[in-house]
Amino acid sequence: MAVTDQGPIPYKEQLPPIVRENYGKWEYHEFPRPGVLKHVGPAGALYSVRVGTPRLLAVDSIRELCALADKYCDGYLRFTTRSNIEYLVTDEANVEPLIAECHELGYPVGGTHHALTNIVHTQGWVHCHTPATDASGVVKAIMDDLYEYFVTDALPHKLHISMACCLNMCGAAHCSDIAVVGIHRTVPRIDHDMVRKSTEIPSLVACCPTGAIRPDPKNKSVKVVDERCMYCGNCYTMSPGMHIMDGQNDGLAIMIGGKVANARTNPEFSRMVIPFLPNNPPRWPEMTEAVHGIVDAWVQNAHKGERLGEWIERIGWERFFSITGIPFSDKLIDDYIFSRESFRTSAAFKY
Ligand code: SF4
Ligand code: SF4
Repeated sequence: MAVTDQGPIPYKEQLPPIVRENYGKWEYHEFPRPGVLKHVGPAGALYSVRVGTPRLLAVDSIRELCALADKYCDGYLRFTTRSNIEYLVTDEANVEPLIAECHELGYPVGGTHHALTNIVHTQGWVHCHTPATDASGVVKAIMDDLYEYFVTDALPHKLHISMACCLNMCGAAHCSDIAVVGIHRTVPRIDHDMVRKSTEIPSLVACCPTGAIRPDPKNKSVKVVDERCMYCGNCYTMSPGMHIMDGQNDGLAIMIGGKVANARTNPEFSRMVIPFLPNNPPRWPEMTEAVHGIVDAWVQNAHKGERLGEWIERIGWERFFSITGIPFSDKLIDDYIFSRESFRTSAAFKY
């Protein structure tokens, strides 16, 4: 094998010593308290202290958090895919003082076992150019509202919430217990002058997943066949002349019941239960109320150990809609042809 200086160093060289020594030999794990995982192997125990972050962090905040790692765990910490920080502590005596200092700095400790963990989300208004809503703002509003479920482990099972600010769903929201998705609802408005000046027209035509964009040679621009458009916004990524943002009509949808894990039951896609809620910054009250209502219904009715989708599968979607009071409409029928099961084919569904 050629040895070069390109690419990352082997990941095992970056592991904390306790993880390297226990690698492949872990014996068991426990949840000593909310926010702490204890993994035990022949070389000793590792305590992972999970800390929630606001996800967008100032450099000063990162320095502050890293200083805690230097003080309590030889500098070993990791960022999880859900923007939690996990301090990797080997001395049990350091766990409680570390948690106390996190609290002093205003960071909650939690998100483990039967808890809500931090919300994985996309870029929103901060960075991306096709969002139908914000991501960070919506997520902040939800996490503030569901804070108690992060710092305790009182839920029936873990709760994964995801947020994508457009249908491209680069946040992988499609397999989450609860997915919040920003949606556009109108066809792009074409600025022909801008299309002419700034766009490679064949690429613009080719980018449309439904073939709704047609060349318009007379205008040296394009046309959109309205009834073919699914408002995905992909064309705006190819041309600034395809205005997809619409302050009056853009909003949010909520999909639920998905999961990636194959524990007990197969992985599932999330399914649409609320097709539209208004974009109402800065705190999105309609959306946080809807998410809270779904979580409360699950907490009050599920068996211990049932994820949200597993609970609904047991009681049937019909009962889910009647328990939560969410209005049902034909827009909610999941007719995805590759789906193994759908509302329409499920025997449990009687609408
Ligand atoms: Fe951009 Fe859409 Fe991803 Fe949001 S979900 S960051 S709008 S591509
Ligand atoms: Fe095509 Fe999507 Fe643009 Fe509609 S929004 S024209 S479906 S690329």
